[in-house]
Amino acid sequence: MARLRDLEVETFLQEAVEIEPALYTRRKGPRHPRTIRARFWDLVEKRGPEECWPWIGCRTKDGYGQFGLRLTNGRWRTVGAYRVAFVLATGKDPGGLHVCHRCDNPPCVNPAHLFLGTSEENMADAQKKRRALWRPDAGRPRGEMHGGARLSRQQVEGLRAVRGLSQRKLAQKFGISQAQVGRILRGESWGV
Ligand SMILES: [Zn+2]
Repeated sequence: MARLRDLEVETFLQEAVEIEPALYTRRKGPRHPRTIRARFWDLVEKRGPEECWPWIGCRTKDGYGQFGLRLTNGRWRTVGAYRVAFVLATGKDPGGLHVCHRCDNPPCVNPAHLFLGTSEENMADAQKKRRALWRPDAGRPRGEMHGGARLSRQQVEGLRAVRGLSQRKLAQKFGISQAQVGRILRGESWGV
């Protein structure tokens, strides 16, 4: 999410939370009065309190959950699901601050894994994550990119939480071989 828009988004989010419960209409069928809260948590695969809770709705290409909020003017706005999770769980307004993932797992919306960071912290964190999670090959000799790469337990959780990607794409994303992805998904191995 572009940084310039963060304050704008927070304003919309606050407005949308304030008008809860909002009515919304499904394309087909009767009107279903539902609160933002109910609609949001329906799109989350809740697991144990310590585990990652993957977002099962739309995601950005980087894997971050996307949630549609109806605004007071009747229009819809898409915001980061993890930001909505933070607001709904804490009742706190993140204002200009970023909501960051403790678990390095973009689709996760478990409020226990989310924390507020300054933009500097978030950028440093994001860079570290991009290097460590999405591009484990960065900064290493190319020969180590496939086969020899090991994933941390958190990276394995992240890999298992990603949906809608082929094993080949997952292998590219995590810098490991397709055979390794297959083994991890079948629960056989998460190392080499
Ligand atoms: Zn998590």
